[in-house]
Amino acid sequence: MPEAPSKSDYLIGVDLGGTKILAGLFTPGLKCLGRAKTSTKADRGPSAVIERIARCVQDAADECDISLKQVRAVGIGSPGAIDPENGRVLFAGNLGWKDVPLKRELEKHLEIPVFLQNDCNVCTLGVQEVELESKPRNMVGVFLGTGIGGGLILEGKLFTGFNRTAGEIGHMVLEVNGPKCTCGNRGCWEALASRSALFRQIQEAIRDGQKTVLTEMLGSDLKDLRSGDLRKAIRQGDKFIAHIVEEAAKYTGIAVANLINILSPEAVVIGGGVMDALESEMMPMVVANAREHAFPGSDKGVKIIASKLGDDAGITGAAVLARRESR
Ligand SMILES: [Zn+2]
Repeated sequence: MPEAPSKSDYLIGVDLGGTKILAGLFTPGLKCLGRAKTSTKADRGPSAVIERIARCVQDAADECDISLKQVRAVGIGSPGAIDPENGRVLFAGNLGWKDVPLKRELEKHLEIPVFLQNDCNVCTLGVQEVELESKPRNMVGVFLGTGIGGGLILEGKLFTGFNRTAGEIGHMVLEVNGPKCTCGNRGCWEALASRSALFRQIQEAIRDGQKTVLTEMLGSDLKDLRSGDLRKAIRQGDKFIAHIVEEAAKYTGIAVANLINILSPEAVVIGGGVMDALESEMMPMVVANAREHAFPGSDKGVKIIASKLGDDAGITGAAVLARRESR
């Protein structure tokens, strides 16, 4: 073993999602030793979900034959609007939560310090610490999944802004008369390039008679459609799916250009399930469009890259949060 942590220096990172909870046990050097996973069952209400998080944390430790007494802190990334100082989830639509004291309740179960942050902020911390050797003091994390979220690290700190809502980059409007977004607006980046947006466009086109290999693969209702199926369709020469994905990549590039113009980050790192599945199909076009639309000179030397952390981004970032906050 290259490192032998003192007996209470382990960290646990938790990724709380609308459908699943992931927990990972990490060394102080952020090496993941073991993982646990459970379904969220948000419909059972906050206290049942918090019990499930606690059990998942215990399972991750148990998986590595580590007792919770040897764990220094737990970090947790939660969807929604978060009050990190007081450890509360102020609002999380996909959990159905309003003002839940997650930190306090989880600390009661686990009897170790718990630190809470928004999930996209947590993932951005993970990317900064684990993926980027230069540890940039100014960077943006972009996550293309069911929705589109972001995390901003400015002058070395997570930036949350006046109403703690900074980083809602997915609701940057890119088409004033574009498709309707879940936020009520039209033409948000999220309504043009998220997984939900891609799937909606594909399903609408099929209803209008569009042919695609996806219906041969999955049946006409496209039940169980996943981002990876789009990659398979493109590799089988499906021009329609290729076009839909290209459009999403183009909008993503324009959004990245806007972020670069406003923030002048050293790096823009793009992760999330859609990017994990479609990196080679999307990234060249994202980079080309970002460079084309950036203000002259503002993108000079700026790295625009895909994250390699995949499903581990959340637990890794949460472990980084635990390490930072428990120092
Ligand atoms: Zn929106």
